Amino acid sequence: MQVLKAPAEVQAWARQQAREGKRIGLVPTMGYLHEGHLSLLRKARSLCDSLVMTLFVNPSQFGPGEDLDRYPRDEDGDLSKAMACGVDLVFMPAAADMYPKGFQTKVSLGALTEPMCGASRPGHFDGVATVVSKLFLITRPDLAVFGQKDFQQLAVIRRLVSDLNFGIEIIAGPIVREEDGVAMSSRNVYLSPDARKQARCLVRGLRAAEQRLAEGTRDASTLLAAARAVIGAAPLAKLDYLELRDAETLESVRTVSKPAVLAVAAKFGHTRLIDNLVLQA
Ligand code: AMP
Repeated sequence: MQVLKAPAEVQAWARQQAREGKRIGLVPTMGYLHEGHLSLLRKARSLCDSLVMTLFVNPSQFGPGEDLDRYPRDEDGDLSKAMACGVDLVFMPAAADMYPKGFQTKVSLGALTEPMCGASRPGHFDGVATVVSKLFLITRPDLAVFGQKDFQQLAVIRRLVSDLNFGIEIIAGPIVREEDGVAMSSRNVYLSPDARKQARCLVRGLRAAEQRLAEGTRDASTLLAAARAVIGAAPLAKLDYLELRDAETLESVRTVSKPAVLAVAAKFGHTRLIDNLVLQA
């Protein structure tokens, strides 16, 4: 497994792979790898010849007062996990390699980035779209795998790839959960034992709504109320948003008549967690 920091070296590597007729697969991460990341690496490994993982905590997708400085890191652990998943190249740039002096370009999308995480984290998706565009242009993948855990991010990236003709196949990996249902996240390590227990309310709330749908309730406000009741019973959970939106367009829905995503974000102390469930009509 090679580890490179310089974008130009990675581009040269990618060109060489292409000359050899190899299909490049990409899994972008911010590191502190858990089983959710590893599931994406394994999926990508099975679909490509040369597997690239990027490991970069991207400053431009963190807002002021967010957790950039204390984002958990474990470089050595990440490299050995990546190796065990059959990664061929880890691209691990420094911030100055990605944003050298004079950098001033921004990739910005429209309506898709306005609600949900876009509303509570202004500028976040500009940061994501810009860095992912750079990662695509540096690593030149044929396919890239992203987790459904970040549902809005996945929608944004699909739109970006289509709008800018990147010609990269975007593949989604399902949410990997802990035994008690909590979605795996690098940020779970921040949680106090009490908060970690109460974090279960998110998936339980989502599943309560799913259960109501299975019983025949299609009305969005009733489904949202079912989820809100469960989440509201956890005193440490401070709800940021709970929304039911069209799974493709992310437009608000009043009645579930096609696949819809029930998405939640909540803070437990300083730690913001997100989760979602796709409800089938
Ligand atoms: P991050 O390191 O948080 O930027 O995540 C890197 C990739 O892993 C993104 O595509 C995430 O959606 C994905 N991911 C994070 N958590 C999970 C999870 N629990 N299950 C599946 N994919 C995940």
